[in-house]
Formats: sequence, structure tokens, C-alpha cells
Amino acid sequence: MNGGAGELGDRLLCTIAKHLKDHVGTVNEAVGRIESNTFVALKQHVPDYSEAYFRKDGADVLEGFPVKNISIKYGIYEITDKSVAVSDMCDRAILALRQIKHKYGATFWVYDDRIRLQMLEEEKIVQEMEVALKEKQFKVFFQPKHDVKDNAMIGAEALVRWRHPVKGLIPPGVFIPVFERNGFITKLDTYVWENTAMLMRQWLDEGHTLVPISVNISRMDFGALPLEEYFPKLMAKYNLSTELYHLEVTETAYMDDPEEMVKTVVILRQHGFKIEMDDFGTGYSSLNLLSDLPIDALKVGMNFVRENKSYDSNKGILSFILNLSKWLGVPTIVEGVETKAELRLVATMGCDFVQGYYFAKPMPEEEFIVYLDKHVRLNGVAQPSDK
Ligand code: C2E
Ligand code: CA
Repeated sequence: MNGGAGELGDRLLCTIAKHLKDHVGTVNEAVGRIESNTFVALKQHVPDYSEAYFRKDGADVLEGFPVKNISIKYGIYEITDKSVAVSDMCDRAILALRQIKHKYGATFWVYDDRIRLQMLEEEKIVQEMEVALKEKQFKVFFQPKHDVKDNAMIGAEALVRWRHPVKGLIPPGVFIPVFERNGFITKLDTYVWENTAMLMRQWLDEGHTLVPISVNISRMDFGALPLEEYFPKLMAKYNLSTELYHLEVTETAYMDDPEEMVKTVVILRQHGFKIEMDDFGTGYSSLNLLSDLPIDALKVGMNFVRENKSYDSNKGILSFILNLSKWLGVPTIVEGVETKAELRLVATMGCDFVQGYYFAKPMPEEEFIVYLDKHVRLNGVAQPSDK
């Protein structure tokens, strides 16, 4: 069991301990506290674990406590093999707990062996990351963004890939979450930002007409770097206009520290950078965020309208977001558009731009520059497009 500590921390810990003692029998059951806010209990198997069961248990513990923002979460290891050391059993319960530590709305998680394998995989990633960066195994790919009205290419997003010497191309979904946990993400991001700027300078020098290219800023980067100083310096170093370099930020960064994020974004916009709100609608999507944070575009995932049982309500949400952006006066970029039907759907809903496999997948720099030359809008006139 895991609970946050605060002013009332000691009292809360005592209450949790008492609650556990009251709910743990004296025969073949046991309870203890293994570190600051982590308790472990050996209990009879409960046949049907449910969110409701654990939510009620957590609510019972916190009842009457004058604190908010504390959640009690449960990691479970089911004992099937008694030869496993007790310390390993506890570690596995804690591993299960870690799966949901930052997951809003999830109260419990049951350990299975995939978690251990995932941990081993993560350990390998961590062992290799510094060497990979030094050996330039991380590559920046670019995915075009297109105008829904005339299909012209109006921008692109820089997306990182790991070209592993043995495993081949590893997608960011595998390593970014690990790097966000251990802080390496900021080193990797600065590498991606710098490489993107360097390539843009090279392309301009070669005489290509460029589109604005956006880079991703992780939630962790806000606390780790003075971004409001970093990006203007980067533009000066490569003699690039801030107009050409867009920044994608996420809702989660706002949730972490709204004041810090708003302050940074306001300064960056004063320098002329355009801010795109990434993955809008997948996090907490507080409406406060939209009134607090000045942004220049909203990015929304196509997952809202993929065929599934919530298709109708998801379509409603997408439509709502598109209307909201009209009302805010900012354009929308719908990501993940794969088919002509999807393109038509989002176009009729009022979306401005799309990014997705229908037009192009993320591609390496050599391919990207050929694509750019072919699809960019020259002197306000769209180049002929294949689509
Ligand atoms: P994201 O920023 O939401 O990026 C869009 C993701 O959607 C990309 O996945 C892209 O390849 C994928 N995508 C685009 N069009 C389609 C489509 O039509 N169908 C499908 N199924 N997928 C599509 P990718 O490149 O694997 O990146 C995943 C996430 O990793 C990104 O999501 C972003 O959050 C993160 N990421 C990628 N590069 C970086 C980076 O340099 N820094 C940071 N901090 N995060 C990055
Ligand atoms: Ca993005």
C-alpha cells in the first residue's frame, strides 16, 4: 500500500497501519511497513479483485482526513510458488504498484511476469543509452503536416528513433517513458532539438524552401532547463527564424507546474516561437489550461474516431475539440489520419491540418527533403500533390 506524505504524514501513516492491522487476521496473515510510505500485507487470496473494492478500502482509510491529492494504491503479488524469497515477493508487489503510480484512476495492479521482463528490458535500455547518444544511434525522423483544404504540405514534426546496432529501429514509445523516469529525456531532447536546427540550417543553405518544423518538449524538460533561454540561443546559433521552429508541449507539463509552464511559454511566444498543444484531450484537459496558456495550435489524436464501441461519443468529443479551437481562434492539427475516409471526416468537422500515414509516415532526413521539395507550397501556391 502506498500513500503520499505531507504535514499530516505521521498521523496518516499510523492510520494506514491501524487499518491494515484491523483487516489482517492473526493466523497466516501479516502486515508491516517496509519503507516511508509503503506497507506490505500478506493476506488470503481475494477471488475477484475490482477497482470498486480497492477504491472503497482506500476511501475508508482516508475518511475524515483533511487532505487532498493523496491516493492509496495497491500492488499485488499472488503467491503461487512458495519457494520465491519473501523479499522478492515484496519487490514484485512493489513493481506492480509502480505500473499505476502515476496513472490517474487506477487503484490496483496485479503482478505478472511481463512486468519483470519489462523491467529487465528497461534496465538494458538504461545501460545502453549514454553510449547510444555518444555513437549517434538516435536519429531524427520527420513527418509532414498537410493542409486539409488543398493538401499542400504546411509543416512537419521531428520524431526521434533509436537505430540500435542489434535490435534495429526502436520506436520512441519503448524508450521515451524510461528516459522520462530517469531524467535522460532532457539530454536526448536537446540532441533532437539541436540536430533539427542544424538540418534546417543546412537545408536553407542548400536553397530549399522550408516549412515550420515542430519539436517535442517533454514535461520533464520544463523543470530541467531554462527553455526560455535555451531556444532563442539555439535559433541564434543556427541563424534561424523562430517562425520556423515550432514547439510541441503537453497537457501533463501544465498539470505538473502550471505557473512555471505558463511563464516559460509566454516568454517563448514573445520571442516569436509558435506553441502547439500536443495530444490534446488525452490527459486531464482542464479548461483552465486553455484560458491560462497562450497557444498557437491544438493537436488532437485520430484515436478519437477509430472504429470501436465508443465511436459515437468519441466523434462527439473530436467535434467538440474542433469547435472549441475555432472559438479560441487557433487551428487544429489532427494526427493519425490513415485513410481518405478519415481525412474527409475530419475535414467536414472543420479540422485545418492533418498529420498521418495517409499522407506520409515519419521519414529519415534524406527522404524528407525530397518529399518537402515536391509538396511544399511555393509563393503561396500549393505544389502539385500525389494525393
Ligand atoms: P506524438 O508526439 O503524439 O507523435 C505522433 C505519433 O503518432 C508518432 O509516433 C507518429 O509516428 C504516430 N503517427 C503519425 N501518424 C500516424 C498514423 O496515421 N497512424 C498511426 N498509427 N500512428 C501515426 P512515434 O514517432 O512512435 O512517437 C510516439 C511518441 O513519442 C510521440 O507522440 C511523442 O510523444 C514521443 N516522442 C517522439 N519523439 C520525441 C522526442 O524527440 N522527444 C520527446 N520528448 N518525445 C518524443
Ligand atoms: Ca508531438
